Amino acid sequence: IKNIAVLTSGGDAPGMNACIRAVIRTGIYNGINMFGVMQGYQGLINNNIIPMDARSVSNIIHLGGTILKTARCLEFKTEEGLELAYKNLQAHDIDGLVVIGGDGTFTGAKRFGEKFGIRVIGVPGTIDNDLYGSDFTLGYDTAINTVIEAIDKIRDTADSHDRLFFIEVMGRDSGCIALRSAISSGAEAVLLPERETSLNELIAQLETGASTKKTSSIVIVSEGHKDGGAYDVAKKVKERFNHYDTKVTILGHLQRGGSPSSFDRILGSRLGFAAVNELLRGNTMQMVGLRGNEVKTTSIEEALTRHTFKLESDLLEMTKVLSI
Ligand code: ATP
Repeated sequence: IKNIAVLTSGGDAPGMNACIRAVIRTGIYNGINMFGVMQGYQGLINNNIIPMDARSVSNIIHLGGTILKTARCLEFKTEEGLELAYKNLQAHDIDGLVVIGGDGTFTGAKRFGEKFGIRVIGVPGTIDNDLYGSDFTLGYDTAINTVIEAIDKIRDTADSHDRLFFIEVMGRDSGCIALRSAISSGAEAVLLPERETSLNELIAQLETGASTKKTSSIVIVSEGHKDGGAYDVAKKVKERFNHYDTKVTILGHLQRGGSPSSFDRILGSRLGFAAVNELLRGNTMQMVGLRGNEVKTTSIEEALTRHTFKLESDLLEMTKVLSI
């Protein structure tokens, strides 16, 4: 391998810059010519591929977002788009690719790698933590920190006014952000996409809190919860439970941004370093991930097709016990 390119694709996540930095510098350290692709797969198609040196990634480890930008690129899903992308890589003599993103990004990488035989290594970058093969994905820890900072502020006002707050957090299919946010903010209840929570159960929980002199209550709602988002759940609860003034906050995209936590900076650095080392060893079609505090590889195929239930059983149990 002589020339390696890196790109970020899909939703941005804090820690991507730390990872880009690690990829570029690990490559240069090993005598490889390094390139950055702007705007994910769109940049491959538009030939927006730029040479990078060690100084191109100075002062970015602490920044949220991605200096390479990201995009959702429909053209890359077509055969013509894939051909064009390959032509541009060939023009730069690029023979290795590191893709940082979620499952859509890996699906594209798999098709691209299989079609043209180019070596590809994936890094799981998504705040949702919804990928198989890594206990944590890049950006997840920072997103939780951002969420709890917001919840702490909401708690101040909730407590002063005796209010019940429904706070919606990201996670269409994954309750990872919701569960960890609930534990670390001391929320009274949490609604997760992976679990049925009956309205009766939730109301009973809130009633118990009210009768034992709780002055405020916070319910975290994952955006993918079956009973709908925070507004829908709040409406249904309000019809039957009105001890408090009820309010709803949707945290939305603020969860995507911000300076990465030390955990995400280290994770990004470890996975970027590992991704380039995998390419140097001649490996391809692998995702590098963290399992039990060790960097491990999983085939992209497996990462895409296998699923694990990622919600920790003790945390699930604690949501009821610690909120009494
Ligand atoms: P997130 O988890 O944050 O949504 P993601 O990587 O899953 O991240 P997607 O928008 O689903 O985000 O995918 C990113 C990009 O990957 C798409 O915009 C597209 O360019 C490419 N991609 C997705 N599916 C395919 C496919 N079947 N073939 C080729 N490319 C694909």
